[in-house]
Amino acid sequence: MVLRNKQATMSQVMEEFLPLYRQSQRLSPEQASACQSIIQCQTDVLGGYVSQCDQCEHQQCYYQSCGNRHCPKCKQKASTEWENKQLESHLAVTYYHLVFTSPNAPTFGTPSIECLGTITPANHLQYLVSGGLENLAQFFKKS
Ligand SMILES: [Zn+2]
Repeated sequence: MVLRNKQATMSQVMEEFLPLYRQSQRLSPEQASACQSIIQCQTDVLGGYVSQCDQCEHQQCYYQSCGNRHCPKCKQKASTEWENKQLESHLAVTYYHLVFTSPNAPTFGTPSIECLGTITPANHLQYLVSGGLENLAQFFKKS
């Protein structure tokens, strides 16, 4: 068993318990991919390089990061920076700030090629609002 110390990483927890979890629970392809990325992040599985000190014999191995946005190893810093940036524009009142990601939706400034002919600012806004409301409704149904 890997998890004998209190400093276990997310990848260690997943590596240890994911097989057991998967015996009774089914993961979506996205969830399975994220779990695999987290387990493999910054290991020799993803490759890397060795850095050699030019003053001594010391060598250091550096492994590639997975880049998955759910990975606490490589995306934690970017996530924290984004959160801090959002807090800078936080209003001095009580409110909820909800952020939805919509991987297939075009962004307002750079619509995808498939949507160039169909998206206007007006229906884009309608799409975002209705999609956000639908996400909220699904979220609260699950809660
Ligand atoms: Zn990673």
